[in-house]
Amino acid sequence: MPAVESVLVVGAGAAGCATAILLASAGVTVDLIDSRPTVGAVGSGITLQGNALRVLRTLGVWEDLQPRGYAFDGLGIRAPGPQAALLGEVTDNRTGGPDLPATFGTYRPVLARILVERAAAAGARIRYGTALTGVDQDATAVTAHFADGTSGVYDLVVGADGLHSTTRSAVGIDLPTTDVGMDIWRFVAPRPPSVTRTELIFGGPLFIAGFCPTGDDSLYGFLVERPQNRGDLPPAEALELVRSLAEPYHGPWDDIVASSPVNFTRFQVHLLPPPWNRGRVVLIGDATHVCPPTVAQGAAQSLEDAAVLAELLTTRHTVDDDLWTAFTERRYERVKTVVDVSMQMCHWLLEGVRGDVPGLHARVFQAVSHPA
Ligand SMILES: Cc1cc2nc3c(=O)[nH]c(=O)nc-3n(C[C@H](O)[C@H](O)[C@H](O)COP(=O)(O)OP(=O)(O)OC[C@H]3O[C@@H](n4cnc5c(N)ncnc54)[C@H](O)[C@@H]3O)c2cc1C
Repeated sequence: MPAVESVLVVGAGAAGCATAILLASAGVTVDLIDSRPTVGAVGSGITLQGNALRVLRTLGVWEDLQPRGYAFDGLGIRAPGPQAALLGEVTDNRTGGPDLPATFGTYRPVLARILVERAAAAGARIRYGTALTGVDQDATAVTAHFADGTSGVYDLVVGADGLHSTTRSAVGIDLPTTDVGMDIWRFVAPRPPSVTRTELIFGGPLFIAGFCPTGDDSLYGFLVERPQNRGDLPPAEALELVRSLAEPYHGPWDDIVASSPVNFTRFQVHLLPPPWNRGRVVLIGDATHVCPPTVAQGAAQSLEDAAVLAELLTTRHTVDDDLWTAFTERRYERVKTVVDVSMQMCHWLLEGVRGDVPGLHARVFQAVSHPA
């Protein structure tokens, strides 16, 4: 018998949906809530590394997702300048195993919908427009309070509610989030034939100019700049801006014409030291760890959190300190490597240091190549 019979999962992002799918499939009664009015995600692309695909395959969604993105191996690093000379290539990075691609680009709303549909099919009861506002707990149960004035009693609450997690503050954890000092513009565009993998240009007028193919006809691009307080530009001006920011870049960039939607975000970082639970409330995903997406591992780590948590909850018989210690022993150092490497890349960029970027990627690949 699993360690829990009823679980509330707060947040229907990658971490929450994955947890709901795995627990509901094991016979646990799962309520999955999200404060959004309906299923959704930022209208941008996402880069899923092999270790993320491994979890997605376990969830039973890889078959659905595979035809709706672009799989590729390797990563190219180019120089700024008119020739966009190829400086380096990262290969041998099939972190999900030899039978999964190294990397897969897709559109976030596609991934969000596939995950939620799978959670529903697995038996999770999904309620959108439902925000967690607080929790009370004793040694045996948690009472969760919702914004509509209702409440529910569960064996466990999983806070997968992202960067500004209410679950986290509800259990009294004050986790400061720091601005890194970089802003990112993301956009979608038709994929020209010259774009067949992720390529990054470090330096030039921006910190990073990069792209990732997301389908036969699509890609997403990202441009990372010094903060200039222009995140609230109207959509047409934002599109004009990203086109002008991309203009000094060449090579495949010559063929890329940015289109809407254009999305703006700041790079931020936080990492919660163990333990990730307070009693019968546990945090996973961005609620515990956020870092700049310089090695594109945030969603991968969130999915891995869910996989490890669900495995422990369904193979053990009690929720106790041993379970929580085992959880963070399997998660913390791995996540910390990703956060440290992602931040190292930002420090080099902020200080104008030309560091060993392929070496950093190799460190992450080594850390995440074995199942979490
Ligand atoms: C610019 C940028 C680019 C990135 N690119 C990549 C990439 O290419 N590859 C990659 O692997 N990762 C990437 N990431 C990281 C990745 O997006 C996140 O790590 C991942 O989405 C986190 O998933 P999550 O489920 O933990 O949180 P989220 O996706 O944030 O989901 C949290 C959910 O909780 C809900 N919620 C919040 N509060 C409440 C509440 N009180 N009650 C109920 N529901 C609530 C929200 O509505 C939301 O749906 C990137 C991040 C950024 C910022």
